[in-house]
Amino acid sequence: MIYNEEFETLPREVLESLQLKRLQQVSQRVYHTVGFYRKAFDKAGVNPDDIKSLSDIRKLPFTTKQDLRDNYPFGLFAVPMSSIVRLHASSGTTGRAIVVGYTKRDIDTWSELMARCFVAAGLTKNDIIHNAYGYGLFTGGLGAHYGAEKLGASVIPMSGGNTKRQIMILQDFGPTAICCTPSYALNLAEQGVAMGVEMQSLKLRVGIFGAEPWTEKMRDEIENKLNLTALNIYGLSEVMGPGVAMECMEGRCGMHIFEDHFIVEVIHPETGELLPYGEEGELVFTTITKEAFPLIRFRTRDISRLIAEPCRCGRSHIRMDRVTGRSDDMLIIRGVNVFPSQIEAVLIGVTGLEPHYQLIVDRAGTMDTLEVQVEVSEQIFANADEVRSLQNLEKHLIKDLKDYLGVAAKVKLIEPKTLQRFEGKASRIIDKRKI
Ligand code: ADP
Ligand code: ZN
Repeated sequence: MIYNEEFETLPREVLESLQLKRLQQVSQRVYHTVGFYRKAFDKAGVNPDDIKSLSDIRKLPFTTKQDLRDNYPFGLFAVPMSSIVRLHASSGTTGRAIVVGYTKRDIDTWSELMARCFVAAGLTKNDIIHNAYGYGLFTGGLGAHYGAEKLGASVIPMSGGNTKRQIMILQDFGPTAICCTPSYALNLAEQGVAMGVEMQSLKLRVGIFGAEPWTEKMRDEIENKLNLTALNIYGLSEVMGPGVAMECMEGRCGMHIFEDHFIVEVIHPETGELLPYGEEGELVFTTITKEAFPLIRFRTRDISRLIAEPCRCGRSHIRMDRVTGRSDDMLIIRGVNVFPSQIEAVLIGVTGLEPHYQLIVDRAGTMDTLEVQVEVSEQIFANADEVRSLQNLEKHLIKDLKDYLGVAAKVKLIEPKTLQRFEGKASRIIDKRKI
């Protein structure tokens, strides 16, 4: 099923000519309404009239997070405040929060794109959606909420936290779908079991998880624990909020980017050079329909790659692979680049380990050190005879991490249920080098 069959399946050439028309319009609009863009275009020696083909987008300057911060809070808005009906802010995971605004039409577009996501996940108006993304300034909660209503589904506006209550509602209201961060899904699964609830027998059929990097192994883990199909959703406040891209049921491999509203590019994170489809690099988005807060070539710092092969579902929109990490989260350990998601890929699914881990980075003299703390299962922990197997497990992990990351890490096996649990985005790195 496709929510907006006409626009989601546009033949490539038609889609591209629509993108070009919209790119020309937005370039004109920002040039004439946002001082920052006028200056940036002038400095780059480009005029909106120079955009004659889609590839001319490369003439336009990039917009960075720093530009957004420099214009805090409203400096990049392209409409007067009287036309703005909603303000949100990014979670501030990696620095000062960024404020974003929406016109009435922007909210309508966003709602439609979220409705497209739900339909891509196989949901209809007959579904009950448990929305555990945080409501408030964070875009997750209200973004998903409006999309669910647009679809006509029944939405439970849970927001994050209050986990025991969430588990009661999951049992009593019988939602068929859940939206939250993948780390919170695991947290719910664990606390449900602790409350004696058979989490696999709930009515949940689909989970729509995003807002933070996660791995295929984490997907398996969540699918097993909650007995549902787990799908990936991507978005960021700056570009809109959740619903910029969504996996479909048929593909389950990469998320369709709603290209009638966004133009995506992948660039080399250091040189800024445009990379061909399939190569990993930094995602760059241009919003081509947003009114309040249009962004030209916004550098997301998110690392992924584009998948150009057509998808079985019939959507013509290009897909992006899982985000392996943000360049801000990349650890440089003794000169080697390490993403937390690479460590997750080694840890999750190993017998005897729980999917809860934390990374401690420190410096001994001039040497960076990485310690991976991961919880072991109750069985292993409770059984004194297992001391040997704990030692073996540790040895095994040290070797696997070394092979996979190319850098040595210490491993610390931790008692079950001792590491921090998360209600929204997980924060797994403790970097003591900065202190
Ligand atoms: P903040 O940058 O403060 O976390 P947002 O709340 O807007 O701001 O979160 C957007 C970011 O969340 C994205 O830039 C990306 O790093 C991350 N993100 C969102 N969805 C996913 C996903 N499905 N996989 C990996 N990372 C994601
Ligand atoms: Zn598809």
